[in-house]
Amino acid sequence: MSTVVIDAGHGGKDNGTSGSFSKEKDVALQIALDLGETIEKYLKDVKVIYTRDDDTFIGLKERANIANKNGADLFISIHCNAVEANKDKSYGTETWVMGLHKSEENLRVAQRENSVILFEENNQEKYEGFDPNDPQSYILFSLYQNANLDNSLNLADKIETQFVDRVGRYSRGVKQAGFVVLYQTSMPSVLVEVGFLTNRLEEKYLNDKLGQTYIASAIFRAFRDYKDEIESVN
Ligand SMILES: [Zn+2]
Repeated sequence: MSTVVIDAGHGGKDNGTSGSFSKEKDVALQIALDLGETIEKYLKDVKVIYTRDDDTFIGLKERANIANKNGADLFISIHCNAVEANKDKSYGTETWVMGLHKSEENLRVAQRENSVILFEENNQEKYEGFDPNDPQSYILFSLYQNANLDNSLNLADKIETQFVDRVGRYSRGVKQAGFVVLYQTSMPSVLVEVGFLTNRLEEKYLNDKLGQTYIASAIFRAFRDYKDEIESVN
């Protein structure tokens, strides 16, 4: 476990989702940087690579390529959640791994996150006609053989456990759906939805410096435990 890629979702012209006063791209970046700094501080043998460390737009394929090119051992993508209606009723954290969605609700999260490819030029060519909004496009993922599923699930589980046990967040669990960015990576990969910007309390928490530090430290502890486990097996 020598290299981890930390992926702050969205950026530049792609704001991601929005709350009443904040944007996903900014919250994700703060937490990603906080996580990276913590890893660099406490785990000196780990190289941290960011897909972005400022407000830049990067396509999904490019994010995965950064991890693949650098031979990363792990890919952690940071995002914020959102709902259209009953906004204050939806809250909590979710960690996603690549797989087939088991519900419409899960499909919608992947659709929202995948729809950022529409910001990319030539996305039809780049993603071979994949339409993030069309459920039919997601059938492709049923053929996907996920060699990294066990490790991805292991880390995802540790992250959600840390959110609950150490930070007191409400966990919505570990879930699977067809996230293009996870599909493109060739190492264990997770996508963390750290909370809902559409929920007033969570938006406040996620924009608070201390809240961001707690979230980052929970992911850090999960990462450290995962690393210890992997290295003791090898
Ligand atoms: Zn996102």
